[in-house]
Amino acid sequence: MISDVLTPAELKKVDPVFGQLSFNDHEQIVFCHDKDTGLKAIIGIHNTVLGPALGGTRMWAYENEWEALNDVLRLSRGMTYKSAITGLNLGGGKAVIIGDAATEKTPELMRRFGEFVHSLSGKYITAEDVGMETSDMDLVREVTPYVTGISEEKGGAGNPSPVTAYGVYMGMKAAAKYRFGSDNLQGKTILVQGVGHVGATLVDLVSAEGAVLKISDINQGRLEQLREQYGAEIIAPADIFDQDMDIYAPCALGATLNDDSIARLSASVVAGAANNQLADENRNGSQLKARNIAYAPDFLINAGGIINVYAELEGYGKDEIRKKTENIYHTTLEIFGHADKHDCTTHQSALRLAEQRIAERKLAGK
Ligand code: NAD
Repeated sequence: MISDVLTPAELKKVDPVFGQLSFNDHEQIVFCHDKDTGLKAIIGIHNTVLGPALGGTRMWAYENEWEALNDVLRLSRGMTYKSAITGLNLGGGKAVIIGDAATEKTPELMRRFGEFVHSLSGKYITAEDVGMETSDMDLVREVTPYVTGISEEKGGAGNPSPVTAYGVYMGMKAAAKYRFGSDNLQGKTILVQGVGHVGATLVDLVSAEGAVLKISDINQGRLEQLREQYGAEIIAPADIFDQDMDIYAPCALGATLNDDSIARLSASVVAGAANNQLADENRNGSQLKARNIAYAPDFLINAGGIINVYAELEGYGKDEIRKKTENIYHTTLEIFGHADKHDCTTHQSALRLAEQRIAERKLAGK
């Protein structure tokens, strides 16, 4: 028997699912396969204490299945905390489809994926993520009602990115208030890394307030367009962490805050849209705190998108979406206060508050 030859620690390393480093008491993990369409997907349901697990579907050409499983476990956990801290009655879930969205995504594959989502009877509700379009969610909608992020013509709430950007802007203003004593961004130098759907709207919002803009992206066309429109200075990706700036707004990829970048960062505030900005949640969070850099937790301030899709489920309108998104300002200030009081990082503080809400609901018997 394998347990006769391996120590318990070694055995843990070979456990493919529950022994995964990213496994965090997930409730359910569903592996979906369909030979005819070539579908290979994993649905991760992290926690449903507050409500159905809602989170987008990511289609990505993962190097291997380990990478896909790790991603879905990590992302679904993040959704639990995002919804909990935002005060939404939703749990955390996410799905990944293994494959290249540009070449392997077909309507049949999307519908078949929708059937798997449907088989969970609403325990998991899907939406868009990387590699997905509103039109894909419309295809899923043909076979299941357990989908959000569908087109406005079909009754959906439309593109969530502008709402996400507005929430990031609120979180950034709160972090500025905490760190500089005022939430006025006029004259502050802000570097936005990634000027895609969210980043470009954020550029528009902070520019209207008189911020001095630096922008970085790998898409030269977008950069030129924004330089022309806002007079922003273009920064090469490799030079970001050697720049003078007051605020760093990561709006491209995760894990940009690591041992090296934090040591070089001149910003006093970090507030951006990217998920999982801290390469190592505890170590890098502590490094930011030690350097007196006010970090607005990513999963708190980028919740505008989920607020937008939640509106679709609950049937509330744009005013309520705006009100809930503006509340990110107050929650961010609350987190800074809580972190100071308990001498922990803002990331830990936000996790604790989210966990507290889940524990209270569990105690109350849902
Ligand atoms: P997007 O794909 O529209 O934009 C990302 C931009 O980053 C693109 O312009 C891309 O060229 C650029 N980029 C990629 N690699 C880069 C690099 N190495 N250096 C600099 N730029 C790079 O994505 P988006 O919808 O704007 O989302 C941005 C981030 O916010 C993502 O991490 C996403 O997961 C997160 N997020 C988005 C939403 C939403 O509503 N769209 C909600 C929550 C979180």
